[in-house]
Order: sequence, then structure tokens, then C-alpha cells
Amino acid sequence: MSRVCSICGKGAMAGNNVSHSNRKSPRHWKVNVQKIGIVEEGKVVSKYVCTRCIRSNKVVRKVNAVKEA
Ligand SMILES: [Zn+2]
Repeated sequence: MSRVCSICGKGAMAGNNVSHSNRKSPRHWKVNVQKIGIVEEGKVVSKYVCTRCIRSNKVVRKVNAVKEA
């Protein structure tokens, strides 16, 4: 199970640490994914979703499903 968002497919990104003397060393950033219960096709499933997708309402959270229905 890699840290990939099941909605947008976003995964780890690569880049460099840059020191004050401008030396560069490779690093990577993990995507902030949370395992949450979401409603898909009328069923509650548990999936890894990045916080950007949660915040931009790309998923219906289980805890909010009653309010939105
Ligand atoms: Zn996402």
C-alpha cells in the first residue's frame, strides 16, 4: 500500500533540499493521505484520500452523508 490518493492519484513528489550555500540534495514529499470512510455508489467504503480531495468536497464522507442526503 503506497501513499497514493485513491481519488486524484496523487503520490509522492521529488525535489531537492537546498542549503543556504545552494548545495542541493534529493528529497521527496509524501502526500498527506488519510484513511476515511466515503460514500461510493450508495455504499460506505474505506479508502485513502488526500487532504486536498477531502477539503475540496471531491468525496462524500461517511460522517457527513446523513446531512447531505
Ligand atoms: Zn486526492
